[in-house]
Amino acid sequence: PCPLEAPAVSTNAQLFERAQRSIPGGVNSPVRAFRAVGGTPRFISRAEGAYMWDAEGTRYIDYIGSWGPMILGHGHPAVLEAVLSAAREGFSFGAPTEREVELAEAIIERVPSIEQVRLVSSGTEAGMSAIRLARGYTGRSKIIKFEGCYHGHADALLVKAGSGLATFGHPTSAGVPPEVVQHTLVLEYNNVEQIEAAFAAHGADIACVMIEPIAGNMNFVRAAVPFVKRIRELCDQHGALFVFDEVMTGFRVALGSAQSVYAQAIPGFTPDISVFGKVIGGGMPLAAFGTSRRVMEKLAPLGPVYQAGTLSGNPVATACGLATLREISRPGFYEALGARTRTLVQGLQAAADAAGVPFVVDSEGGMFGFFFTSTLPQNYTQVMATDQARFNRFFHGLLDRGVYLAPALYEAGFVSAAHTEADIAATVAAAADVLRAE
Ligand code: PMP
Repeated sequence: PCPLEAPAVSTNAQLFERAQRSIPGGVNSPVRAFRAVGGTPRFISRAEGAYMWDAEGTRYIDYIGSWGPMILGHGHPAVLEAVLSAAREGFSFGAPTEREVELAEAIIERVPSIEQVRLVSSGTEAGMSAIRLARGYTGRSKIIKFEGCYHGHADALLVKAGSGLATFGHPTSAGVPPEVVQHTLVLEYNNVEQIEAAFAAHGADIACVMIEPIAGNMNFVRAAVPFVKRIRELCDQHGALFVFDEVMTGFRVALGSAQSVYAQAIPGFTPDISVFGKVIGGGMPLAAFGTSRRVMEKLAPLGPVYQAGTLSGNPVATACGLATLREISRPGFYEALGARTRTLVQGLQAAADAAGVPFVVDSEGGMFGFFFTSTLPQNYTQVMATDQARFNRFFHGLLDRGVYLAPALYEAGFVSAAHTEADIAATVAAAADVLRAE
């Protein structure tokens, strides 16, 4: 037999064993390895609608949705057709296409703060490019980010807070020289005093403040309205750009993204640069960053800020993104998705209450979070102080009952338009069963 031939049927454990021989940790992105919760990752063989099946044929109701992109569920017929027909026309040309213009126009039409966008292939690339653009436009070096927000794995963003306020950060990854993060200041999320102090100390040197407006990388923590409002004022006073990383929230919490939610509370509010990923690619590698024409014109080939990509604006990915945007723009889409998501979190809350387990929930559009504690956390320290052991038992209890949640307490959850009332009810029943045993 051919030495490359795989065995006909493998268990998840066998596949994981095999994967670890050829891929570090057996995975191509660390969180997939179940390190936080323990146990064997499920190797997924296919997905349809709200469900995924693993290598052993077990079905799961999927609340990860590829970590956000699958807002329509898996294999939506219109999206599938768009992708197949684009693939027949060619995978990649390395030359401009009409479809990428259409996608740029579709994003601009839905997000009023954006006049121009550039398409890239990952959220990491989009975030990294947004920082470079902010620095190039302002001619300044320093950037501010917040503890618990993830903006991809660009060197300058793999950083944790220094020992005191207004001291610059330390790398969180080996291989990032301290010099590379010396311009990155890491502050506490939702802490107005810290951001005021940072601008008081460094205002003239700050290129941008980057934030996840609803932080999905610490489960689900909203930036408080007064906090966002104060950052907007400080950026305006000091000539810094306000960067909204909407890789997760973009087209997920509302058609106008999280910035439209904040604009309801803060009249006239817009960020400067917006960063998108996930939903705009509908499951294909696609991301974007955009802002005013005046700032975007600093990018190559018009301006001095270099940025490029062999697969940027890929014709199959843009077909997938466009078809996805078309579907989510139908009237009533977000009302229905938001209501379904609320039914889920309210059901989980009721199940926890009935079991006497301290539990809090929140959601916006098709994104949700829950914590084993009694008040909603406001920052990373509070998130990490919630009950990890209980979360892990809950995760595995649900997994055993065919419900697939993100395998770490600091990750958000996602509901898709394919999740039915019955799926939500089955999930809540499974959760009640697990929580009763607590
Ligand atoms: N920003 C945010 C808010 C994210 O959630 C992520 C990925 N989870 C990224 C950036 C990086 O995106 P990617 O994984 O596509 O590089």
